[in-house]
Amino acid sequence: MKKTLLLLAVTAISLFNAQANATYLSRVNLVQQTNIENYNAALVGFGVRSTGSTASTNALNYIVQKYKDFGYTDSQITYDNFTYSSNTVQNIIITKTGTVYPDQYVIICGHYDSHPNNSVGANDNGSGVAAIMEVARILKNVPTEYSIKFIHFTGEEQNLLGSKNYVSNVVKTTSMKIKLVLNLDQIGGRSDRTNNTIVCEADNYNNTTQGIQSTNDAASLTATNSLKDYVGYYSTLTGVLNYAYGSDYMPFENNGEIITGLYERPTNSSGTVVTNPYYHNNTDTIAHLSYPYIFQVTKAALGAMQHFAVASTSTLAVSDIEKTKDFELYPNPAKEILNLHLDDSIKDFSFEISDSNGRVISITKNQKQINTSQLKPGVYFGTLSSEKGKTSKKFIIK
Ligand SMILES: [Zn+2]
Repeated sequence: MKKTLLLLAVTAISLFNAQANATYLSRVNLVQQTNIENYNAALVGFGVRSTGSTASTNALNYIVQKYKDFGYTDSQITYDNFTYSSNTVQNIIITKTGTVYPDQYVIICGHYDSHPNNSVGANDNGSGVAAIMEVARILKNVPTEYSIKFIHFTGEEQNLLGSKNYVSNVVKTTSMKIKLVLNLDQIGGRSDRTNNTIVCEADNYNNTTQGIQSTNDAASLTATNSLKDYVGYYSTLTGVLNYAYGSDYMPFENNGEIITGLYERPTNSSGTVVTNPYYHNNTDTIAHLSYPYIFQVTKAALGAMQHFAVASTSTLAVSDIEKTKDFELYPNPAKEILNLHLDDSIKDFSFEISDSNGRVISITKNQKQINTSQLKPGVYFGTLSSEKGKTSKKFIIK
């Protein structure tokens, strides 16, 4: 019993804890503040994006077009529809498939609707949407072990309608396996105050119970402590723990998922937290937020997502890795000799032959021509292993 507990504890730590990574940092340095400004200016330009409004539909079309511009394909973009006040409204979901755990997801989410009280939502939540889009742009060609879903919910301002709908109609019905949910809501800060800290939001932090599940509290705190570390590694900001409440991670929390989040933390010059009056009304404008702050939060989020989804530490893109994992066997069927054709960039590899029962028959290193004269006629599997990964192919001996 104790052994099992220890093993679980170690697994939980290794899921989230890691050091700053140089490759991850090099990608973080690709974040551009002007991109964030442009995305948010476009969103704000549509007007009040209240759920079901024309402005909201225009924002949806803009967001989707940007993901396509980044290189995401139609098959990666899906919608989750529901009805609000007799209009069909849509959550937007962009899925990037993981290389090792394709059926396990790290979700990064932020709502694209704005408050109907005449708010164009520059901060709440154009800031979060813009940050997620910039993260998605940079991760497009980066292999990640876990799948990622970039989600933009609508209906958040009507008591989390979009995320509630998604959890009941998609997460529950498909028994989706979720490693973690990272929510970005209102990360704009205040242009007239100090913005050098950010709230890292943990489920039920310090026994401040907002969710209904307790089984996920400890894991959320572990993930959020890591998030706080990543903020320090990849941005100039300092993370400060507090409790999660009142945004799109809560329906996930209620379903038992592990959640975390980032939320602005404006202070006065002596570091005391101040409130932000510039949201849920017509003062939630670009003039009142701080782009240098959103820039830093975006860097933190991109660093964190690379750890959470276990991004490749190689500088190769997905297409390069696919190429270097792939190989051909010829002739097939073979007789005395089996040849391996593989990408020239692979210098160090091993090739394992096993029979149809999975028994290993031979292992060779760095040989492109294998003597198969000792093999009996039948079906075999050849597995190529290199630093880029493992791939198996079936072949026949005549
Ligand atoms: Zn919000």
